Amino acid sequence: MFDNLSDKLDKAFHILKGHGKITEVNVADTLKEVRRALLDADVNFKIAKDFTNRVKEKALGQDVLTNLQPGQLMVKIVKDELIELMGGEAAGINLSGNPSVILMSGLQGSGKTTFSGKLANFLKSKKSKNPLLVACDVYRPAAINQLHVVGEQLGVEVYSEAGNMNPVEIAQNAIKHAKANGFNVVIVDTAGRLAVDEEMMNEIANIHKAIQPQETLFVVDAMTGQDAVNTAKAFNDRLNFDGVILTKLDGDTRGGAAISIKSVVNKPIKFIGTGEKMDAIDVFYPNRMADRILGMGDVISLVERAQAQYDEEEARKIQKKIAKNEFGFDDFLSQIQQVKKMGNMKDLMGMIPGVGKAMKDVEIEDDAFKHIEAIIYSMTPDERTRPSLLDVKRKNRIARGSGTSVQQVNQLLKQFDQMSKMMKMMQGSKGKNLMRMMGN
Ligand code: GDP
Repeated sequence: MFDNLSDKLDKAFHILKGHGKITEVNVADTLKEVRRALLDADVNFKIAKDFTNRVKEKALGQDVLTNLQPGQLMVKIVKDELIELMGGEAAGINLSGNPSVILMSGLQGSGKTTFSGKLANFLKSKKSKNPLLVACDVYRPAAINQLHVVGEQLGVEVYSEAGNMNPVEIAQNAIKHAKANGFNVVIVDTAGRLAVDEEMMNEIANIHKAIQPQETLFVVDAMTGQDAVNTAKAFNDRLNFDGVILTKLDGDTRGGAAISIKSVVNKPIKFIGTGEKMDAIDVFYPNRMADRILGMGDVISLVERAQAQYDEEEARKIQKKIAKNEFGFDDFLSQIQQVKKMGNMKDLMGMIPGVGKAMKDVEIEDDAFKHIEAIIYSMTPDERTRPSLLDVKRKNRIARGSGTSVQQVNQLLKQFDQMSKMMKMMQGSKGKNLMRMMGN
Protein backbone atom coordinates (compact mmCIF):
# COMPACT_ATOMS: atom_id res chain seq x y z
CA MET A 1 0.00 0.00 0.00
CA PHE A 2 1.34 3.42 -1.00
CA ASP A 3 4.90 2.16 -1.49
CA ASN A 4 5.70 4.72 -4.14
CA LEU A 5 4.38 7.63 -2.15
CA SER A 6 6.20 6.48 0.99
CA ASP A 7 9.47 6.23 -0.94
CA LYS A 8 9.15 9.68 -2.43
CA LEU A 9 8.24 11.33 0.86
CA ASP A 10 11.18 9.59 2.47
CA LYS A 11 13.48 11.04 -0.20
CA ALA A 12 11.97 14.49 0.35
CA PHE A 13 12.71 14.34 4.09
CA HIS A 14 16.26 13.25 3.31
CA ILE A 15 16.97 16.68 1.89
CA LEU A 16 16.93 17.99 5.45
CA LYS A 17 19.45 15.45 6.69
CA GLY A 18 22.58 17.09 8.02
CA HIS A 19 20.94 20.51 8.26
CA GLY A 20 21.01 21.97 11.75
CA LYS A 21 17.74 23.81 11.39
CA ILE A 22 14.83 24.42 9.11
CA THR A 23 15.32 27.47 6.87
CA GLU A 24 13.26 29.11 4.13
CA VAL A 25 15.59 27.52 1.58
CA ASN A 26 15.79 23.92 2.73
CA VAL A 27 12.10 23.79 3.63
CA ALA A 28 11.23 25.03 0.13
CA ASP A 29 13.34 22.27 -1.46
CA THR A 30 11.79 19.62 0.75
CA LEU A 31 8.25 20.77 0.23
CA LYS A 32 8.69 20.94 -3.52
CA GLU A 33 9.44 17.22 -3.39
CA VAL A 34 6.59 16.54 -0.97
CA ARG A 35 4.21 18.32 -3.34
CA ARG A 36 5.53 16.37 -6.30
CA ALA A 37 5.10 13.11 -4.36
CA LEU A 38 1.49 14.00 -3.57
CA LEU A 39 0.71 14.95 -7.16
CA ASP A 40 2.25 11.71 -8.41
CA ALA A 41 0.02 9.86 -5.97
CA ASP A 42 -2.93 11.54 -7.70
CA VAL A 43 -3.74 13.99 -4.95
CA ASN A 44 -5.76 16.97 -6.21
CA PHE A 45 -3.52 19.92 -7.15
CA LYS A 46 -5.15 22.46 -4.87
CA ILE A 47 -5.13 20.10 -1.93
CA ALA A 48 -1.44 19.35 -2.44
CA LYS A 49 -0.64 23.06 -2.64
CA ASP A 50 -2.63 24.01 0.44
CA PHE A 51 -1.11 21.07 2.27
CA THR A 52 2.48 22.10 1.62
CA ASN A 53 1.68 25.72 2.45
CA ARG A 54 0.34 24.71 5.84
CA VAL A 55 3.33 22.47 6.48
CA LYS A 56 5.68 25.31 5.58
CA GLU A 57 4.00 27.74 7.94
CA LYS A 58 4.18 25.27 10.80
CA ALA A 59 7.78 24.26 10.06
CA LEU A 60 9.12 27.79 9.94
CA GLY A 61 7.27 28.78 13.06
CA GLN A 62 8.67 26.00 15.19
CA ASP A 63 12.42 25.88 14.70
CA VAL A 64 13.57 27.09 18.11
CA LEU A 65 10.86 25.43 20.14
CA THR A 66 11.90 21.87 19.63
CA ASN A 67 14.97 19.74 19.92
CA LEU A 68 13.93 17.42 17.10
CA GLN A 69 16.19 17.17 14.06
CA PRO A 70 14.77 19.14 11.09
CA GLY A 71 14.03 15.89 9.23
CA GLN A 72 12.18 14.41 12.19
CA LEU A 73 10.31 17.63 12.78
CA MET A 74 9.20 17.71 9.16
CA VAL A 75 7.98 14.09 9.33
CA LYS A 76 5.99 14.98 12.43
CA ILE A 77 4.40 18.06 10.88
CA VAL A 78 3.56 16.21 7.65
CA LYS A 79 2.08 13.36 9.65
CA ASP A 80 -0.10 15.69 11.73
CA GLU A 81 -1.31 17.47 8.60
CA LEU A 82 -2.08 14.18 6.85
CA ILE A 83 -4.13 13.06 9.86
CA GLU A 84 -6.01 16.35 9.81
CA LEU A 85 -6.60 16.12 6.06
CA MET A 86 -8.02 12.61 6.39
CA GLY A 87 -10.47 13.63 9.09
CA GLY A 88 -8.62 13.56 12.42
CA GLU A 89 -10.54 11.00 14.43
CA ALA A 90 -12.06 7.72 13.25
CA ALA A 91 -15.75 8.14 12.42
CA GLY A 92 -18.20 5.50 13.61
CA ILE A 93 -21.43 4.45 11.94
CA ASN A 94 -24.87 5.26 13.22
CA LEU A 95 -26.66 2.15 14.42
CA SER A 96 -29.32 3.90 16.47
CA GLY A 97 -32.35 2.93 14.38
CA ASN A 98 -34.50 -0.11 14.94
CA PRO A 99 -33.76 -1.46 12.50
CA SER A 100 -30.79 0.70 11.49
CA VAL A 101 -30.97 1.10 7.74
CA ILE A 102 -27.70 1.40 5.82
CA LEU A 103 -27.87 2.33 2.14
CA MET A 104 -24.92 1.49 -0.10
CA SER A 105 -24.21 3.64 -3.14
CA GLY A 106 -21.47 3.78 -5.74
CA LEU A 107 -20.52 2.83 -9.29
CA GLN A 108 -20.65 -0.69 -10.64
CA GLY A 109 -17.51 -2.62 -9.78
CA SER A 110 -16.57 -0.33 -6.90
CA GLY A 111 -17.07 -3.19 -4.46
CA LYS A 112 -20.57 -2.43 -3.09
CA THR A 113 -21.82 -6.00 -2.97
CA THR A 114 -18.57 -7.30 -1.51
CA PHE A 115 -18.55 -4.54 1.08
CA SER A 116 -22.22 -5.11 1.99
CA GLY A 117 -21.23 -8.66 2.88
CA LYS A 118 -18.13 -7.55 4.78
CA LEU A 119 -20.14 -5.01 6.77
CA ALA A 120 -22.84 -7.57 7.63
CA ASN A 121 -20.11 -9.92 8.81
CA PHE A 122 -18.36 -7.15 10.77
CA LEU A 123 -21.57 -6.04 12.52
CA LYS A 124 -22.56 -9.61 13.29
CA SER A 125 -19.25 -10.62 14.83
CA LYS A 126 -18.01 -7.33 16.36
CA LYS A 127 -21.25 -5.64 17.40
CA SER A 128 -23.49 -8.69 17.96
CA LYS A 129 -26.03 -7.35 15.48
CA ASN A 130 -28.49 -9.36 13.44
CA PRO A 131 -28.17 -7.95 9.91
CA LEU A 132 -30.36 -8.47 6.85
CA LEU A 133 -28.85 -7.97 3.39
CA VAL A 134 -31.13 -6.59 0.67
CA ALA A 135 -30.54 -7.02 -3.07
CA CYS A 136 -31.89 -3.99 -4.92
CA ASP A 137 -29.98 -4.33 -8.18
CA VAL A 138 -32.99 -5.20 -10.33
CA TYR A 139 -31.11 -5.00 -13.62
CA ARG A 140 -28.46 -7.66 -13.11
CA PRO A 141 -29.72 -11.04 -11.87
CA ALA A 142 -26.04 -11.97 -11.45
CA ALA A 143 -25.69 -9.23 -8.83
CA ILE A 144 -28.62 -10.64 -6.84
CA ASN A 145 -27.08 -14.10 -7.03
CA GLN A 146 -23.73 -12.72 -5.92
CA LEU A 147 -25.33 -11.29 -2.78
CA HIS A 148 -27.08 -14.59 -2.09
CA VAL A 149 -23.78 -16.45 -2.37
CA VAL A 150 -22.14 -13.97 0.02
CA GLY A 151 -25.07 -14.24 2.46
CA GLU A 152 -24.95 -18.01 2.44
CA GLN A 153 -21.22 -18.00 3.07
CA LEU A 154 -21.69 -15.70 6.08
CA GLY A 155 -24.89 -17.18 7.43
CA VAL A 156 -26.70 -13.86 6.86
CA GLU A 157 -30.20 -13.76 5.36
CA VAL A 158 -30.58 -12.03 1.99
CA TYR A 159 -33.87 -10.41 0.99
CA SER A 160 -34.68 -10.20 -2.72
CA GLU A 161 -37.81 -10.21 -4.87
CA ALA A 162 -37.51 -12.08 -8.14
CA GLY A 163 -39.36 -10.30 -10.92
CA ASN A 164 -39.98 -7.05 -9.04
CA MET A 165 -38.37 -4.24 -11.02
CA ASN A 166 -39.04 -1.52 -8.46
CA PRO A 167 -36.06 -1.12 -6.13
CA VAL A 168 -37.87 1.40 -3.91
CA GLU A 169 -40.59 -1.13 -3.21
CA ILE A 170 -38.09 -3.93 -2.59
CA ALA A 171 -36.19 -1.79 -0.08
CA GLN A 172 -39.42 -0.81 1.72
CA ASN A 173 -40.64 -4.41 1.83
CA ALA A 174 -37.24 -5.53 3.14
CA ILE A 175 -37.49 -3.09 6.04
CA LYS A 176 -40.98 -4.43 6.89
CA HIS A 177 -39.57 -7.94 6.70
CA ALA A 178 -36.73 -6.94 9.04
CA LYS A 179 -39.14 -5.44 11.59
CA ALA A 180 -41.34 -8.51 11.55
CA ASN A 181 -38.46 -10.93 11.89
CA GLY A 182 -36.15 -9.33 14.44
CA PHE A 183 -33.37 -8.00 12.19
CA ASN A 184 -31.85 -4.87 13.74
CA VAL A 185 -29.67 -3.78 10.81
CA VAL A 186 -30.75 -3.64 7.16
CA ILE A 187 -28.00 -3.24 4.56
CA VAL A 188 -29.40 -2.22 1.17
CA ASP A 189 -27.15 -3.01 -1.81
CA THR A 190 -28.14 -0.99 -4.87
CA ALA A 191 -27.44 -1.03 -8.61
CA GLY A 192 -24.48 0.89 -9.94
CA ARG A 193 -23.55 1.98 -13.45
CA LEU A 194 -20.16 2.14 -15.09
CA ALA A 195 -20.21 5.93 -14.89
CA VAL A 196 -22.33 8.55 -13.18
CA ASP A 197 -25.62 8.96 -15.06
CA GLU A 198 -28.86 10.75 -14.35
CA GLU A 199 -31.05 7.65 -14.29
CA MET A 200 -28.91 5.94 -11.66
CA MET A 201 -28.76 9.09 -9.57
CA ASN A 202 -32.54 9.44 -9.69
CA GLU A 203 -33.02 5.84 -8.69
CA ILE A 204 -30.70 5.93 -5.70
CA ALA A 205 -32.09 9.32 -4.67
CA ASN A 206 -35.62 7.86 -4.75
CA ILE A 207 -34.60 4.89 -2.62
CA HIS A 208 -32.85 7.25 -0.24
CA LYS A 209 -35.95 9.43 0.11
CA ALA A 210 -38.29 6.50 0.59
CA ILE A 211 -36.34 4.58 3.25
CA GLN A 212 -34.58 7.47 5.06
CA PRO A 213 -31.49 5.49 6.02
CA GLN A 214 -29.53 6.20 9.22
CA GLU A 215 -26.37 5.77 7.17
CA THR A 216 -25.80 6.34 3.49
CA LEU A 217 -22.42 5.06 2.49
CA PHE A 218 -20.61 5.77 -0.74
CA VAL A 219 -18.33 2.97 -1.93
CA VAL A 220 -15.40 3.79 -4.15
CA ASP A 221 -12.44 1.97 -5.65
CA ALA A 222 -9.24 3.54 -4.29
CA MET A 223 -7.33 2.54 -7.42
CA THR A 224 -9.25 5.13 -9.45
CA GLY A 225 -7.47 8.10 -7.82
CA GLN A 226 -8.82 11.49 -8.91
CA ASP A 227 -11.83 9.84 -10.56
CA ALA A 228 -12.77 8.48 -7.17
CA VAL A 229 -12.82 12.00 -5.82
CA ASN A 230 -14.94 13.33 -8.71
CA THR A 231 -17.42 10.48 -8.42
CA ALA A 232 -17.65 11.07 -4.68
CA LYS A 233 -18.52 14.69 -5.35
CA ALA A 234 -21.28 13.77 -7.83
CA PHE A 235 -22.88 11.29 -5.40
CA ASN A 236 -22.56 13.63 -2.45
CA ASP A 237 -24.24 16.48 -4.33
CA ARG A 238 -27.28 14.25 -4.82
CA LEU A 239 -27.34 12.11 -1.68
CA ASN A 240 -25.51 14.12 0.96
CA PHE A 241 -24.09 10.79 2.12
CA ASP A 242 -22.66 10.14 5.59
CA GLY A 243 -19.41 8.42 4.86
CA VAL A 244 -17.05 6.91 2.32
CA ILE A 245 -15.89 3.31 1.98
CA LEU A 246 -12.56 3.05 0.21
CA THR A 247 -12.09 -0.39 -1.34
CA LYS A 248 -9.15 -2.21 -2.95
CA LEU A 249 -6.52 -0.60 -0.77
CA ASP A 250 -4.67 -3.92 -0.94
CA GLY A 251 -3.85 -3.24 -4.57
CA ASP A 252 -1.19 -1.02 -6.03
CA THR A 253 -2.98 2.10 -4.87
CA ARG A 254 -1.27 5.43 -5.19
CA GLY A 255 -3.02 6.98 -2.23
CA GLY A 256 -4.59 10.06 -3.80
CA ALA A 257 -8.16 9.07 -3.01
CA ALA A 258 -7.45 8.31 0.64
CA ILE A 259 -5.74 11.65 1.09
CA SER A 260 -8.08 13.92 -0.90
CA ILE A 261 -11.60 12.62 -0.51
CA LYS A 262 -12.37 14.01 2.94
CA SER A 263 -11.45 17.55 2.09
CA VAL A 264 -13.36 17.54 -1.21
CA VAL A 265 -16.70 16.17 0.05
CA ASN A 266 -16.22 16.96 3.73
CA LYS A 267 -17.35 13.47 4.69
CA PRO A 268 -15.17 10.99 6.54
CA ILE A 269 -13.86 7.70 5.21
CA LYS A 270 -15.42 5.18 7.58
CA PHE A 271 -14.10 1.80 6.47
CA ILE A 272 -11.53 0.43 4.08
CA GLY A 273 -11.57 -2.78 2.07
CA THR A 274 -8.26 -4.59 1.83
CA GLY A 275 -9.05 -7.74 -0.12
CA GLU A 276 -11.69 -9.90 -1.70
CA LYS A 277 -12.34 -12.05 1.36
CA MET A 278 -15.16 -11.27 3.75
CA ASP A 279 -12.86 -10.41 6.66
CA ALA A 280 -10.78 -7.92 4.64
CA ILE A 281 -12.43 -4.88 6.23
CA ASP A 282 -10.87 -2.34 8.60
CA VAL A 283 -12.21 0.71 10.38
CA PHE A 284 -10.48 3.74 8.86
CA TYR A 285 -8.16 5.45 11.36
CA PRO A 286 -6.57 8.61 9.92
CA ASN A 287 -3.52 8.33 12.20
CA ARG A 288 -2.81 4.74 11.24
CA MET A 289 -3.26 5.57 7.58
CA ALA A 290 -0.82 8.48 7.96
CA ASP A 291 1.70 6.04 9.45
CA ARG A 292 1.27 3.76 6.47
CA ILE A 293 1.60 6.62 3.99
CA LEU A 294 4.85 7.61 5.67
CA GLY A 295 6.08 4.00 5.58
CA MET A 296 5.96 3.73 9.36
CA GLY A 297 3.92 0.56 9.42
CA ASP A 298 0.80 0.02 11.43
CA VAL A 299 1.70 -1.82 14.58
CA ILE A 300 -1.61 -1.08 16.28
CA SER A 301 -3.65 -2.82 13.60
CA LEU A 302 -1.22 -5.72 13.69
CA VAL A 303 -1.63 -6.13 17.44
CA GLU A 304 -5.41 -5.84 17.10
CA ARG A 305 -5.50 -8.60 14.55
CA ALA A 306 -3.40 -10.76 16.85
CA GLN A 307 -5.73 -10.02 19.74
CA ALA A 308 -8.78 -10.88 17.66
CA GLN A 309 -7.31 -14.34 17.11
CA TYR A 310 -6.13 -14.72 20.68
CA ASP A 311 -7.97 -17.53 22.33
CA GLU A 312 -7.49 -17.47 26.13
CA GLU A 313 -8.63 -21.06 26.62
CA GLU A 314 -6.35 -22.41 23.90
CA ALA A 315 -3.43 -20.36 25.26
CA ARG A 316 -3.83 -21.87 28.73
CA LYS A 317 -3.90 -25.38 27.28
CA ILE A 318 -0.73 -24.72 25.30
CA GLN A 319 1.07 -23.29 28.35
CA LYS A 320 0.26 -26.39 30.34
CA LYS A 321 1.54 -28.60 27.55
CA ILE A 322 4.80 -26.70 27.34
CA ALA A 323 5.28 -26.95 31.10
CA LYS A 324 4.78 -30.71 30.89
CA ASN A 325 6.96 -31.05 27.83
CA GLU A 326 3.99 -32.19 25.78
CA PHE A 327 3.93 -29.49 23.11
CA GLY A 328 3.71 -31.45 19.86
CA PHE A 329 3.25 -30.89 16.14
CA ASP A 330 -0.54 -30.84 16.43
CA ASP A 331 -0.24 -27.84 18.73
CA PHE A 332 2.27 -26.28 16.36
CA LEU A 333 -0.22 -26.74 13.53
CA SER A 334 -3.01 -25.07 15.45
CA GLN A 335 -0.70 -22.13 16.22
CA ILE A 336 0.11 -21.78 12.53
CA GLN A 337 -3.58 -21.81 11.74
CA GLN A 338 -4.14 -18.99 14.22
CA VAL A 339 -1.44 -16.89 12.56
CA LYS A 340 -2.92 -17.59 9.14
CA LYS A 341 -6.29 -16.29 10.25
CA MET A 342 -4.68 -12.88 10.78
CA GLY A 343 -4.39 -12.30 7.04
CA ASN A 344 -2.00 -12.82 4.18
CA MET A 345 1.70 -12.68 4.93
CA LYS A 346 2.65 -9.74 2.73
CA ASP A 347 -0.15 -7.71 4.25
CA LEU A 348 1.03 -8.51 7.77
CA MET A 349 4.67 -7.80 6.94
CA GLY A 350 3.62 -4.44 5.52
CA MET A 351 2.27 -3.44 8.91
CA ILE A 352 5.67 -3.82 10.57
CA PRO A 353 7.53 -0.48 10.52
CA GLY A 354 10.24 -0.41 7.87
CA VAL A 355 9.47 -3.90 6.63
CA GLY A 356 6.80 -2.96 4.09
CA LYS A 357 9.24 -0.89 2.09
CA ALA A 358 12.06 -3.40 2.29
CA MET A 359 9.79 -6.23 1.17
CA LYS A 360 7.93 -4.46 -1.57
CA ASP A 361 9.69 -6.27 -4.42
CA VAL A 362 9.92 -9.61 -2.68
CA GLU A 363 7.42 -12.20 -3.77
CA ILE A 364 5.98 -13.82 -0.70
CA GLU A 365 4.19 -17.07 -1.26
CA ASP A 366 0.54 -16.62 -0.59
CA ASP A 367 0.72 -19.60 1.67
CA ALA A 368 4.09 -19.39 3.38
CA PHE A 369 3.24 -22.30 5.67
CA LYS A 370 2.27 -24.71 2.91
CA HIS A 371 5.34 -26.96 3.23
CA ILE A 372 5.27 -27.00 7.00
CA GLU A 373 1.63 -28.00 7.03
CA ALA A 374 2.18 -30.68 4.37
CA ILE A 375 5.02 -32.19 6.42
CA ILE A 376 2.96 -32.24 9.62
CA TYR A 377 -0.05 -33.73 7.82
CA SER A 378 2.18 -36.55 6.59
CA MET A 379 3.11 -37.54 10.16
CA THR A 380 1.20 -40.17 12.10
CA PRO A 381 -0.57 -39.03 15.31
CA ASP A 382 2.17 -40.76 17.34
CA GLU A 383 4.91 -38.94 15.48
CA ARG A 384 3.16 -35.64 16.00
CA THR A 385 3.10 -36.03 19.77
CA ARG A 386 6.55 -37.65 20.00
CA PRO A 387 8.86 -36.15 17.37
CA SER A 388 11.74 -38.22 18.85
CA LEU A 389 10.27 -41.23 16.99
CA LEU A 390 11.35 -39.75 13.69
CA ASP A 391 14.21 -41.84 12.38
CA VAL A 392 15.68 -41.78 8.87
CA LYS A 393 13.11 -44.20 7.49
CA ARG A 394 10.18 -42.24 8.85
CA LYS A 395 11.66 -38.95 7.66
CA ASN A 396 11.97 -40.37 4.14
CA ARG A 397 8.36 -41.47 4.20
CA ILE A 398 7.20 -38.06 5.41
CA ALA A 399 9.22 -36.23 2.76
CA ARG A 400 7.71 -38.41 0.04
CA GLY A 401 4.19 -38.05 1.42
CA SER A 402 4.39 -34.27 1.68
CA GLY A 403 6.15 -33.64 -1.61
CA THR A 404 9.13 -32.10 0.20
CA SER A 405 12.73 -33.20 0.79
CA VAL A 406 14.36 -34.86 3.79
CA GLN A 407 16.32 -31.61 4.26
CA GLN A 408 13.07 -29.70 4.59
CA VAL A 409 11.78 -32.23 7.11
CA ASN A 410 15.03 -31.96 9.10
CA GLN A 411 14.87 -28.21 8.97
CA LEU A 412 11.37 -28.18 10.39
CA LEU A 413 12.38 -30.61 13.15
CA LYS A 414 15.28 -28.37 14.04
CA GLN A 415 13.10 -25.27 14.14
CA PHE A 416 10.52 -27.08 16.20
CA ASP A 417 13.19 -28.25 18.63
CA GLN A 418 14.59 -24.73 19.02
CA MET A 419 11.13 -23.31 19.48
CA SER A 420 10.23 -25.89 22.12
CA LYS A 421 13.43 -25.07 24.04
CA MET A 422 12.70 -21.37 23.84
CA MET A 423 9.13 -21.84 25.01
CA LYS A 424 10.32 -23.90 27.93
CA MET A 425 12.72 -21.12 28.92
CA MET A 426 9.95 -18.57 28.68
CA GLN A 427 7.87 -20.47 31.19
CA GLY A 428 9.59 -18.51 33.99
CA SER A 429 7.69 -15.63 35.57
CA LYS A 430 9.01 -13.05 33.11
CA GLY A 431 8.45 -15.38 30.22
CA LYS A 432 4.75 -15.70 30.91
CA ASN A 433 4.17 -12.08 30.00
CA LEU A 434 6.26 -12.43 26.90
CA MET A 435 4.25 -15.45 25.84
CA ARG A 436 1.06 -13.54 26.40
CA MET A 437 2.33 -10.74 24.20
CA MET A 438 3.11 -13.22 21.48
CA GLY A 439 -0.39 -14.62 21.75
CA ASN A 440 0.76 -17.99 23.00
P1 GDP B 1 -20.20 -3.84 -7.12
O1 GDP B 1 -20.51 -3.90 -8.59
O2 GDP B 1 -20.01 -2.44 -6.66
O3 GDP B 1 -21.19 -4.58 -6.28
O4 GDP B 1 -18.77 -4.53 -6.93
P2 GDP B 1 -18.38 -5.99 -6.41
O5 GDP B 1 -18.65 -6.10 -4.95
O6 GDP B 1 -19.02 -7.00 -7.29
O7 GDP B 1 -16.81 -5.95 -6.60
C1 GDP B 1 -16.18 -5.87 -7.88
C2 GDP B 1 -14.87 -6.65 -7.85
O8 GDP B 1 -13.96 -6.06 -6.94
C3 GDP B 1 -15.05 -8.08 -7.38
O9 GDP B 1 -14.23 -8.90 -8.16
C4 GDP B 1 -14.56 -8.07 -5.94
O10 GDP B 1 -14.05 -9.31 -5.54
C5 GDP B 1 -13.50 -7.00 -6.00
N1 GDP B 1 -13.28 -6.33 -4.70
C6 GDP B 1 -14.19 -5.73 -3.91
N2 GDP B 1 -13.60 -5.19 -2.81
C7 GDP B 1 -12.27 -5.46 -2.92
C8 GDP B 1 -11.11 -5.14 -2.12
O11 GDP B 1 -11.17 -4.49 -1.04
N3 GDP B 1 -9.91 -5.60 -2.58
C9 GDP B 1 -9.81 -6.30 -3.75
N4 GDP B 1 -8.58 -6.70 -4.13
N5 GDP B 1 -10.85 -6.59 -4.52
C10 GDP B 1 -12.07 -6.18 -4.12
